[in-house]
Amino acid sequence: MERMRELVDLLNRYAYAYYVLDEPIVSDDEYDKLYDELVALEKELVFRLPDSPTLRVGGDTIKAFEPYKHRERLYSLDKAKNIGELEAFFDRLKKALGFVPELTLEHKFDGLTLSLTYEDGKLVRGATRGDGEIGEDVTQQIKTIRTVPFKIDYPGVIEVQGEGIMRISSFEEYNKTAEIPLKNPRNAAAGAIRNLNPKVTAQRKLDFFAYNIGYHDGKGFATQQEIHDFLKKNGFLVDNFFHIVSDSSEAWRLLERIDQERTSLDFLIDGAVFKVNDLRLREELGFTEKFPRWALAYKFLALETTTILKDVVWQVSRTSKLNPLAILEPVELMGVTVKRATLNNFSDIQKKDIRIGSRVLIHRSNDVIPEIMGVYSHAGDSKEILPPAFCPACGAPVRNDGVFYYCTDPEHCAPTIVSALDHFASKPCMDIEGLSEKTIEQLYNELGLDSPDKLYTLTAQQLLTLEGFQKKKAENLIASIRASRETTFSRFLHAIGIPTIGKKASMQLAEHFGTLEALRAASKEDITKIFDFGEVMADHVVRFFADKKSSDMVDRLLQFITLRSEDAPRAGGVFAGYTVVFTGSLNNYKRSEAQDLVLSLGGKISDTVNRNVNLVVAGAEAGSKLDKAKKLNIRIITEEDFIHWMNQSPDL
Ligand code: NAD
Repeated sequence: MERMRELVDLLNRYAYAYYVLDEPIVSDDEYDKLYDELVALEKELVFRLPDSPTLRVGGDTIKAFEPYKHRERLYSLDKAKNIGELEAFFDRLKKALGFVPELTLEHKFDGLTLSLTYEDGKLVRGATRGDGEIGEDVTQQIKTIRTVPFKIDYPGVIEVQGEGIMRISSFEEYNKTAEIPLKNPRNAAAGAIRNLNPKVTAQRKLDFFAYNIGYHDGKGFATQQEIHDFLKKNGFLVDNFFHIVSDSSEAWRLLERIDQERTSLDFLIDGAVFKVNDLRLREELGFTEKFPRWALAYKFLALETTTILKDVVWQVSRTSKLNPLAILEPVELMGVTVKRATLNNFSDIQKKDIRIGSRVLIHRSNDVIPEIMGVYSHAGDSKEILPPAFCPACGAPVRNDGVFYYCTDPEHCAPTIVSALDHFASKPCMDIEGLSEKTIEQLYNELGLDSPDKLYTLTAQQLLTLEGFQKKKAENLIASIRASRETTFSRFLHAIGIPTIGKKASMQLAEHFGTLEALRAASKEDITKIFDFGEVMADHVVRFFADKKSSDMVDRLLQFITLRSEDAPRAGGVFAGYTVVFTGSLNNYKRSEAQDLVLSLGGKISDTVNRNVNLVVAGAEAGSKLDKAKKLNIRIITEEDFIHWMNQSPDL
């Protein structure tokens, strides 16, 4: 009983910070673990304290907002976290109905529940969920969301429910210039809507994904599918992912697919929601005090958690930039133990007010090293982080350039040399098979190989002096090095490591200038004519070729390397022959990912609509580019068509 009281108090304190202040003090993962402990304890003792969070939905409302009484109560969702709990849900349905009904499966958006009321087709009210019965009237805030339709085709009163979210791309864009960066898109969306100033809401560029109809007094709906179609037809933003399943193994397969794909979406989801499709069956199944018996949220492993920042070390990169690396108190995240995280740069550390000893929020989006998103709490003895004064690898003094710090002696700094060589040899660059980072370290440490041109005079005899090299391995490596002597202009540009010039920029430079001579003669103004090329990138290119050391290195390399024309687009790629423009926001991909897909499938990308473009993919709220495409009579397709095109053939 003592532990139960403790858990209820703790969870209520956390829920207040989360729901009322939109400033959580623990991660969802930590909250959920304590919540599960409480549920288990309540079951064991067959008792619940009256203020237990298992008896209520959501949290209190902010007094500054007018309260709004929902015409129909909003609920929370029952949860499952593994296949056993999923199957138990199917079993419960079978027991109650005598059969397993059709279920719809949707993404579970991680944002703020909202309910919009329309009267005779006109948006009259927007409210938060609150405790499910009384929410906050946030009509003015909601009206700033561009994906909320002001008018729909429905006579009578109807309440449309959905989730207010901030897209990851909008979140990242906002944080680029924000004085105080936002920690996560979920809290950013909740904080923006529950802000008294609608201008703040507008700045965050939120979206509203509609997924449910609550109260309605006009024409009714028979299924969730009908609801989905109605919302789509009436101009609401609805997610493309919508499936109907009828058994648990099919459900499990789809869940695995969503879990794999979720980090490539441009919005956060924390799971997927099953709902009985037939609305009459829902009535039969009814509700508990907290959730419907006809729905289930399957929760994926959390992408975020908190831990203590133990130290910050500075790592030297291939461009001699010193990158801060966070050393963390080890913590479990998505099934792995995380010990390190990135901190972008010193200014980021300052903006986020990150200190050693503080509890920080870490986020993992792919298999890449997690990032520190912000501070949850400082400890009494938290220590300020200072910028580096000397290069930690070679001891040279550092140079400060904007928000970054650089080692001033890169020619003698081992990590810079080794990682520049590693980059040179990597797959997207010179693609030298068998030249691993470990081998490069051996070449540098034992043979003094400190510049990429020296690779081309390396002999098998020299390699045989290195540990782990026998005749075959040595000959293979020499053969791969020799094979790299003929390469494309864009690969070569990427390989020589001009700061800020990655794969896409190298391809653009190669296409625009055609030859290395032309690029070397180009001015900053010439380069910024390429769309997407900012001053900073152009400046790096010009400085690189004007610098004697890097220019000499290029000349030495050219004694061995022949540049040939670019690779032809992949034969048979479904976008071969198409120059594609993306406009508006995509539901399922970040724009850069969609563009990469087109490139990898044989197509070309353009950022502007012009006469060379022959396909436009229009996402939500496509604007002037779409108008221009219509004027030029260019073929326009939706995101769904685009996915279909990729999966099948161009014959739409
Ligand atoms: P929930 O996340 O458990 O699930 C219900 C909500 O899911 C609905 O209100 C709806 O808004 C949303 N949803 C998203 N997509 C949907 C879809 N396609 N169809 C239907 N509904 C959809 O909501 P809850 O009960 O408010 O929140 C509990 C969760 O909130 C906890 O599991 C925890 O992760 C988090 N929380 C965290 C803290 C903290 O301190 N970090 C505190 C309290 C709660």
